[in-house]
Amino acid sequence: MRENNSGKEQAITTDSHFHPGEQEIQSRMGVRETMERFSKQVIANFMPEEHRSFYQQLPFIMLGHADKKGWPWATMLVNKAGFVTSENNKKLSINSKPIPGEPFSKLLQHDQQHNKRIGLLGIELSTRRRNRLAGHITQVNDTAIEIEVDQAFGNCPQYIQMRELINIDKEVLEKPEVTSINRFDSKTREFIHNSDTFFVASYAKTENNKANINEGVDVSHRGGRPGFIRVDDDNTLTIPDYTGNFHFNTLGNFLLTPKAGLLFPDFETGDLLTLTGTVEILWDSVETKFFEGAERLWKFKIDHGYWMKNALPLRWKLDKYSTNTLLTGTWDEAKKTQQAELERNQWQTYTITKTIKESSVIKSFYLSPEKNQRPLFSAGQFITVKATINDKDVIRTYTVSSSPHDSDYRISVKRETSNNKNIPDGVFSSYLHDKVSVGDTLQIKSATGDFTLDTQSERPAVLLAAGIGITPMISIARFAMLEAVRTRSRKKLTVIHAAHDHVQRAFFEELKEIEKSSSGNIHCFWTLSKINDTLKAGKHYNHIGHINAALLQAVLPLDDYDFYLCGPPEFMQATYNLIRNLGVTDQRIFAESFGPASLERQSDRSTGSFQQIPVAKEAIIEFTRSKVKQAWTKSDGTLLEFAEVHGLLPEYGCRSGQCGSCKVKLLSGKVSYNQPLQTTVNDDEVLLCCAMPAESSEEDIVKVKIDL
Ligand SMILES: Cc1cc2nc3c(=O)[nH]c(=O)nc-3n(C[C@H](O)[C@H](O)[C@H](O)COP(=O)(O)OP(=O)(O)OC[C@H]3O[C@@H](n4cnc5c(N)ncnc54)[C@H](O)[C@@H]3O)c2cc1C
Repeated sequence: MRENNSGKEQAITTDSHFHPGEQEIQSRMGVRETMERFSKQVIANFMPEEHRSFYQQLPFIMLGHADKKGWPWATMLVNKAGFVTSENNKKLSINSKPIPGEPFSKLLQHDQQHNKRIGLLGIELSTRRRNRLAGHITQVNDTAIEIEVDQAFGNCPQYIQMRELINIDKEVLEKPEVTSINRFDSKTREFIHNSDTFFVASYAKTENNKANINEGVDVSHRGGRPGFIRVDDDNTLTIPDYTGNFHFNTLGNFLLTPKAGLLFPDFETGDLLTLTGTVEILWDSVETKFFEGAERLWKFKIDHGYWMKNALPLRWKLDKYSTNTLLTGTWDEAKKTQQAELERNQWQTYTITKTIKESSVIKSFYLSPEKNQRPLFSAGQFITVKATINDKDVIRTYTVSSSPHDSDYRISVKRETSNNKNIPDGVFSSYLHDKVSVGDTLQIKSATGDFTLDTQSERPAVLLAAGIGITPMISIARFAMLEAVRTRSRKKLTVIHAAHDHVQRAFFEELKEIEKSSSGNIHCFWTLSKINDTLKAGKHYNHIGHINAALLQAVLPLDDYDFYLCGPPEFMQATYNLIRNLGVTDQRIFAESFGPASLERQSDRSTGSFQQIPVAKEAIIEFTRSKVKQAWTKSDGTLLEFAEVHGLLPEYGCRSGQCGSCKVKLLSGKVSYNQPLQTTVNDDEVLLCCAMPAESSEEDIVKVKIDL
């Protein structure tokens, strides 16, 4: 019995298409039952008709085998299209001769090939189609290698780069040259580093096959952006493992036989690098989270291999990278992200690379880090932005409106104008709209905040936004759409955006695009307070006026949802009350507001409503770094107000306990918050904007020391 992620025990079964190694990893990932059910439909012990015809149209086929010393190898068998034939749905015949001196050619020279287990992968780079099978050799004769099929299944294109086969004059082909290697020299290092594709052979073998497992061989495709494989030293590679089909054929084999055969083709020159060695799966490496798209890592240590110059009579031209590949990272980027994470609490210079007018009042700014990579962030979070305006440093917080999959931050800022001549326009938004252009720089502190999509929740999410409150929602929607491509997650989202009119409304076209690309997982609706005759209901908007019960009931099928709210204070409270009255529990409502107005929640938790710790009548406050030590009384207000009165300029954003911008270290003493916090604050931290010294029964004079 094994434990899966959820702690539920699951038995290893012999009545399965999967062997114990594969089953163990599926259990670990919490997909065991799903995969067992799924396998009954997709894995067969014969080739479906379309697989048979597919193999017969290919000019090359990948084969995985283990040599007599137990080292796995991936090999490429090549000939004219039609060299693979299939007499019936259990048989394949491969008319190809391996390159002399190459490991598979050695295997064929021995007598033991009969019944030898092999894995096959048929792959067409121009269409990105692929099918896999496990089988065994029944006969080798002068013209062909005969194979009987044990298992066959299809595979989706995922990380396969699109390549066109180029016709070359066979007369100009040079003779293959095979050189043995047992470590990486500068040439192989560079070649591996620049590769975007390799094939991996692996097999499962147990000491005494009591469980009667299928000890088959597998050969799989692996793709990524050039730089996705790290050559650590002259014998080790570190390779990210991306989300795949959840069969875990390769990793499952590694678990039982920690060895791999790797084959790197040079699609332009026809050279091949084939390696065999040992592997180690790194389940919990800290490096994984910095590598975009990596779910885990594995290390490969070379035992020996061959550099095969002029090995292939085929050449390809790169057409384009797969969308999935483009959503993954490289080791160079991972290193920079890791460095940026170390500096996440320091101001960093970002250059404005693009500005876009999103509506009559909203403008987007694309921000690229001057050094390193931008640090990690989650969709829905905000960054803190600083600029010197009229000789004064001004700080504001802005939600990132791009997705964590995008390399730059994008912020989308509403111009705050005043209709009253005695009241000035908004300082920072006016500066950004009027003074800043491409090439200018801003100081940025990394994204933070708790208003993020709960990806673990199986419930569909409803994102309700008003006006500029659309910024976290567009980030979340874009993230969900791209995650569905990368991981095949099927998170259902409904976005409802309320705007004053279509001229002020931002991201209408972008949301439509997201909806279109989401394969039915994301639905968007719009409501406008003001319409005109040029606008068509259903095409330009779905509702007139505020979000109300009629609109929600019309667009949301009966279900159990998580709700996310962002917009001006009146919208927040009205919409919160509306959905509470429709029976949604408080715990299912996540809210973010861009100003001090904070939501009055009706708690439904059994622990009751928020209870403030008693506030001290007076206290001594010490701001250690500024060397300010002063007496505080209740009338001095929050620690933020107190610090400002004493000439300090702590950073702040919302001044209402939501954004976390004013969070600093609490060195000693206790504080009391005047409202429930909507951001995480550890015991050794204090959120200045809503904290006051707490009453203490242990000290005569309450003392609070703050690192400011
Ligand atoms: C977590 C978070 C995320 C945010 N995300 C976004 C976002 O994605 N996009 C976005 O546009 N904003 C966002 N904001 C809001 C943003 O931080 C700024 O508050 C906003 O841009 C206004 O800043 P400002 O400097 O332009 O206006 P300020 O100068 O701060 O003025 C604010 C308002 O007060 C008025 N005002 C100024 N002086 C007075 C006075 N003496 N009396 C009365 N009224 C006065 C101004 O006219 C203006 O309307 C976010 C805020 C938070 C807390």
